[in-house]
Amino acid sequence: MIKAFENFEVWFVTGAQLLYGGDAVVQVDGHSNEMVAGMNASGILPVRLVYKGTANSAAEVTDVMTRAEADPRCIGVITWMHTFSPAKMWIHGLQRLRKPLLHLHTQYNEEIPWDTMDMDFMNLNQSAHGDREYGFILSRMRKARKTVVGYWKDPKTLARIAVWQRVAAAWADAQDMRILRIGDQMNNVAVTDGDKVEAEMRLGYHVDYVPFSDVLQYFKQIEDADVNALVAKYNTVYDTSQVLFDDGRQAIWNAAKAELTLRALLVDRGAKGFTTNFDDLGDVDVKVSGMGFDQIPGLASQRLMEEGYGFGAEGDWKTAALYRTVWFMSQGLPEGCSFLEDYTLNFAGERSSILQAHMLEVCPMIAAGKPKLEVHWLGIGIRKTLTARLVFTSKVGRGITATVVDMGNRFRLVTNDVECIEPKPLPKLPVASALWIPMPDFEVGAAAWMMAGGTHHSCFSYDLDREYWEDYAEIAGIEHLHIGKETTLEGFRKDLRINEVYYLLNKALK
Ligand code: MN
Repeated sequence: MIKAFENFEVWFVTGAQLLYGGDAVVQVDGHSNEMVAGMNASGILPVRLVYKGTANSAAEVTDVMTRAEADPRCIGVITWMHTFSPAKMWIHGLQRLRKPLLHLHTQYNEEIPWDTMDMDFMNLNQSAHGDREYGFILSRMRKARKTVVGYWKDPKTLARIAVWQRVAAAWADAQDMRILRIGDQMNNVAVTDGDKVEAEMRLGYHVDYVPFSDVLQYFKQIEDADVNALVAKYNTVYDTSQVLFDDGRQAIWNAAKAELTLRALLVDRGAKGFTTNFDDLGDVDVKVSGMGFDQIPGLASQRLMEEGYGFGAEGDWKTAALYRTVWFMSQGLPEGCSFLEDYTLNFAGERSSILQAHMLEVCPMIAAGKPKLEVHWLGIGIRKTLTARLVFTSKVGRGITATVVDMGNRFRLVTNDVECIEPKPLPKLPVASALWIPMPDFEVGAAAWMMAGGTHHSCFSYDLDREYWEDYAEIAGIEHLHIGKETTLEGFRKDLRINEVYYLLNKALK
């Protein structure tokens, strides 16, 4: 089990009824206990299942769902109908449950016991039709859920539950997520803006502005000895073979002080993410007063992303929140994730690709090798100076990138499968980068992304795939447009038009 999720539980509730007598319910209970213990012992589920007994009446359903909703450890509920469970008894309980719901369609026995099956067996093992009755009420109530069908011991079934558990955990994490905006959106940028009230209502997280004068209160309290210790740590973690003069060493020292400042601010405010803006860095006259960052805190952003803090550049709070969610749900998975920006195109026929980078802020979790800590000139924004950054290229491999845009009447999640390929060296561009081909190919992938209004900033992961984002969109109740191998522009254009109508009508249907 992954330690990161050890404080969470997923509740398992078995639907039954008393029509077949108390003995039948005792057997149902025994089967359910064995199944939950078996699924926990599989080693596939990152979040522990807790069996909450059979629900045999409307009162029992309402009771368990009310408790699930109230218990902070519970991040979601799995329901399964062992016997036929008349579904009207689920109405009031399901109305109370707002947490993620998974409908598991399985059966205690794997195969039909041809030689011994009698009417008692038939009365007891009724998920084949019980789950259909239950599925109706979920559909009738327009209840968001994931439907998983498969034998409970099958690793494929468990893997689909595991994906949903990770998303449910990240969803729980987002419900008390606070994002600090240090500086506003970059002036006039549209796609990174949006409705913060709707974001809190719909996606859970809260966004606060932090004036740089607040940042300076933390900056002033950072001790030189702590900065020196952090610089020494950099020397053990990164390749520091670049030959530096005094100005370069000072830039690294300044970067370490910025990192300590931001971490102190984030911890003190209980925040899970932040944004920066290269025009808002403290005193204009910082070289005289010493009160401010010498440049955007790029190295700090890189390292804080690796620790799990959400990050969005130029005030992009939606991306900061989404990155935190990506990091949270992929904890313990091997390959990593990063904030990235579409930087430059490389036209090369069928291998046409997009260089993904940023001025500085790319997470070292995606690095192919040991990152180099380097100091170079950066002349954008209010500061023009030498600044530190981690330089690397990403691993080769498949992944998925994601963004959320505000369409005015709804949030839209756009995801794209991508293939990271081997780049050529960039001796004059000392930043971290990835080079990818968007699926199904550059022309269709990039066109579909822009037709959907996708941002130039996105949250990339090697470990996630489409299923995670389907589950996320279902839980959040937002639109999801996925671009992958099967995407055609004709089909995608049709989806865009159909969704426009669907989301207008959807509110009326509920
Ligand atoms: Mn940017």
